[in-house]
Amino acid sequence: MKSGKEQTADLRWTLQKRMKEVLGRSLHIRHVDSGSCNGCDFEMNTLTNPIYDIQRFGVDFVASPRHADMLMVTGGVTRHLEEALIKTYNAASEPKMVVAIGACACGGGIFGRTYANYGGVDQIVPVYVYVPGCPPRPEAIIEGILLALDRYEELSRNKGEKMH
Ligand code: SF4
Repeated sequence: MKSGKEQTADLRWTLQKRMKEVLGRSLHIRHVDSGSCNGCDFEMNTLTNPIYDIQRFGVDFVASPRHADMLMVTGGVTRHLEEALIKTYNAASEPKMVVAIGACACGGGIFGRTYANYGGVDQIVPVYVYVPGCPPRPEAIIEGILLALDRYEELSRNKGEKMH
């Protein structure tokens, strides 16, 4: 059986291979914090540390949604951040792959649905992939990216679109 380190290495190589097959280039991600406790954000940040180092495999976190293929959203969407999420979504490039990171983003989590919290990203914008966990491990976030690429590939094939 493979060690955790070997399994993580396999995941990263798979990610690089799938980006090449599906996009023909690197993947650009914009992170949106729509009201998280920051636990999910810390797990996301580990993806670029020297252990996971996914930038080396072709994933880039970008400052502008206009340059992003994917939005990674943390938090259950507070009313204060609703507008920011909508504006970021509208500014993002097609195909606007939205990945909800963590229990809050997937369905409200421990904050649920209240006067101040919408209770999940899909209450505001369409979600491509849900990554549960409180917070999810970095490996689960990588698997979420892979699922989003699979979904994009399938949707493009059904529409008869050329991907790259
Ligand atoms: S899922 Fe957990 S770690 Fe992530 S934002 Fe919600 S409470 Fe925080």
